[in-house]
Amino acid sequence: MGLWLEGRTLAGKIREDIREQVERYEEVTNRVPGLVGILVGENPASKVYLRTKEKTSQKLGIHSEILRFPADIQKESLQIEIEKLNQREEVDGILVQLPLPSAFDPYEIITLISPEKDVDGFHPFSLGTLLWNQPGFKACTPLGIVELLKDNGITIAGKRVVIIGRSLIVGKPLAAMMTNEHGTVTICHSKTENLPQVASEADILVAAMGKAAYVTADFVKTGAAVIDVGMNQLKDKDKVKEFFGDDEKREKDLQEKGYTLIGDVDPRVIDKAEHLTPVPGGVGPLTVAMLMRNTLEAFKRRRKLK
Ligand code: NAP
Repeated sequence: MGLWLEGRTLAGKIREDIREQVERYEEVTNRVPGLVGILVGENPASKVYLRTKEKTSQKLGIHSEILRFPADIQKESLQIEIEKLNQREEVDGILVQLPLPSAFDPYEIITLISPEKDVDGFHPFSLGTLLWNQPGFKACTPLGIVELLKDNGITIAGKRVVIIGRSLIVGKPLAAMMTNEHGTVTICHSKTENLPQVASEADILVAAMGKAAYVTADFVKTGAAVIDVGMNQLKDKDKVKEFFGDDEKREKDLQEKGYTLIGDVDPRVIDKAEHLTPVPGGVGPLTVAMLMRNTLEAFKRRRKLK
């Protein structure tokens, strides 16, 4: 049986380091980093994610605001709001919570953010610096994955890395980061043929597809490190029992929330893999920690602080 790669502990250490730095810089500059999240529409998951980011910011001494707009806001009005944030001196980081309502083209909206405030790392300028392997803002979830592997002494250089999912949020930037770390990278998606066979060649397998427990033991090479990015709601009581056995925490989730979270990887893969990230408590906490780190970085760069 392999080891669970907990992200919570590392995320806690990173947050504590950020909190101390924020405190130190405040003493010197009398200022704290500022982060603004933009929510368009009423997507319930987006509301939860933004609230988590706001709460974490507050705990670390980072000033945080959420701007909420109706789903039918005019594109021009949203453009004006983002432009105002670009101009606001005390705002270091701007993020537009995705997905946007279908009337908006995310590319068009994200490119409105000033690259120096692009703490999510989705602006074409940030993605360009990533491909150039130059300093710049990197997407938070992939950045967290690389940190987690390094922190646990899992070498990327020379390893076969297979990433299932090619989104701009996870798969594509992660492929670039893993390549920069000298991994040999394959990206898979819904048109990939023989997916289990391709996946089973991986020393490091990353699942970011949004399909509950899709990756089973036959996708996994014995001894691989498996990173489960997926976050899916599992509501079926029998399925919960099948995946997690008699687990009090999962039963409590079902009673209180009506679901428990499950990743894209069948948790029983732990019997074959050397490492597997749990869901929740794996990649998720690191994503938020990396956003905080990017925000602090934006603050430091804009004020030329060392
Ligand atoms: P997404 O934009 O929907 O992309 C999903 C990707 O998976 C696509 O590239 C898709 O292929 C591929 N895919 C879907 N079904 C597949 C299949 N049967 N076989 C092979 N590939 C398949 O999703 P995302 O935003 O990247 O998020 C993925 C998951 O990660 C979601 O569960 C999300 O909630 C979670 N997530 C977690 C965090 C975190 O912090 N823990 C952060 C971000 C996302 P095509 O391109 O061909 O359609």
